[in-house]
Amino acid sequence: MSTSSSGIKHVAVVGAGMIGLTTAWYLQERGVRVTVVDRTGVAAGSSWGNAGWLTPALTLPLGEPSVLMSGPKAMLSSKSPLYIPLALDPKLIRFLLGFAWHALPRQWRKSIAIFATVNPLAMEPFRELAADGVTEPVKEAKPFLAGFLSEKDRKGLLHEFEVVHSSGGTVDFDLATGDELRALEPTLSDAVVCGVLLRGQYFINPPKYAESLGAAVIKRGAELKTGFDVTDIRDSGDGVDVISASGESLRADAVVIATGAWLNRLTRRFGVKAIVQAGRGYSFSVKPEVVPTHPIYFPSQRLACTPLGDRLRIGGMMEFRNVDAAPDERRIQTLIAAGRPVFQGVDWDAREEEWVGGRPVTADGHALIGATTNPRVFVGGGHGMWGIALGPLTGKLLAGAVVGEPDPLLKQFDPLR
Ligand SMILES: Cc1cc2nc3c(=O)[nH]c(=O)nc-3n(C[C@H](O)[C@H](O)[C@H](O)COP(=O)(O)OP(=O)(O)OC[C@H]3O[C@@H](n4cnc5c(N)ncnc54)[C@H](O)[C@@H]3O)c2cc1C
Repeated sequence: MSTSSSGIKHVAVVGAGMIGLTTAWYLQERGVRVTVVDRTGVAAGSSWGNAGWLTPALTLPLGEPSVLMSGPKAMLSSKSPLYIPLALDPKLIRFLLGFAWHALPRQWRKSIAIFATVNPLAMEPFRELAADGVTEPVKEAKPFLAGFLSEKDRKGLLHEFEVVHSSGGTVDFDLATGDELRALEPTLSDAVVCGVLLRGQYFINPPKYAESLGAAVIKRGAELKTGFDVTDIRDSGDGVDVISASGESLRADAVVIATGAWLNRLTRRFGVKAIVQAGRGYSFSVKPEVVPTHPIYFPSQRLACTPLGDRLRIGGMMEFRNVDAAPDERRIQTLIAAGRPVFQGVDWDAREEEWVGGRPVTADGHALIGATTNPRVFVGGGHGMWGIALGPLTGKLLAGAVVGEPDPLLKQFDPLR
């Protein structure tokens, strides 16, 4: 560990999700004492129920041209994988207009080029975490499978890969027939007629990984305060006071706000104008007769399936609505309806661990990482679909910014843009 020369000795991190915890870990690498506060506990937000994919080939902007076509349909059908409730919410409308603009082909290509600069850097931080304290393994998908109900559907993913290549990224893949996929995963049904086998992709068990990361941060000297619902952050002149709903106050030299889909509530007063909209996803787990050992993606159905021990987690949906709204059972039924035709030997009624969580989505598809208008207040979040894959890299870059050594890469992710 090195020692910070910035005068920053103690940092409060708000939010014990992937971003908050990895930032804490990397601050510790720089010799900074950390107090992590969360209103609930470790991985109480979207860092729990996600698919756990660390898949550089797929780490691409959510807003892409085909979303523009499905948008109007999505507003009308509660069964669509992208669901936008019809509501006259000015903030949501502003977000959707920005989102649609960034999904235009030219913006989308620019956005892919930004992902192409960070994706190759994303795995090294996982190895660094594993080298000191984070014991939950990162597994290589050998290979990662994508399945399709038609050749036409497969062309959509292959087109994305072409754009990645032309933007400087790399994707290592082979085409496969339905039978070749079933030879790897007998749980796939005959309806799956073709697929793609991706190399160089990884996955984790998200709840276990978050737990292991939280334990490592504590073991390395951090204090974790749960039940600490931050309602205010005040500059005290020589530090910051982080105030909880119950009136408790925590003094530190600087604060990192990493509150996921709740980010705007604390960051607006520090000049962060970008909207972070909850893109709510759902997941549950089932126990197929033959439990898959490879992660499986169905791009057309937007279904993400990940083996978690002796169960298979099924996740998906993108519901742009209030992060704290009650779960909508219809979304779970939509996931089941998408999963039923592509799998066999699954008892869908015996599902467990039903979950909803808000991805922190920005209109331009890029995260907000770095300093705000207050030099003691920092932000890390807004990773949308990719806060697990890009979380540790974010934590590393953000810790550097907090101690006064911002990496030039952060220009792309300026929270004040
Ligand atoms: C279905 C689904 C599948 C996904 N699959 C993947 C995937 O395969 N790969 C990938 O890279 N990403 C995936 N994601 C996205 C990923 O889960 C998120 O981008 C990531 O978890 C965001 O992490 P975070 O730390 O920013 O936020 P969160 O994990 O949401 O953490 C925020 C924390 O802040 C706390 N908090 C909020 N407000 C306050 C407050 N005022 N005071 C104190 N604490 C507060 C919350 O309790 C929470 O613990 C998926 C998401 C979903 C929904």
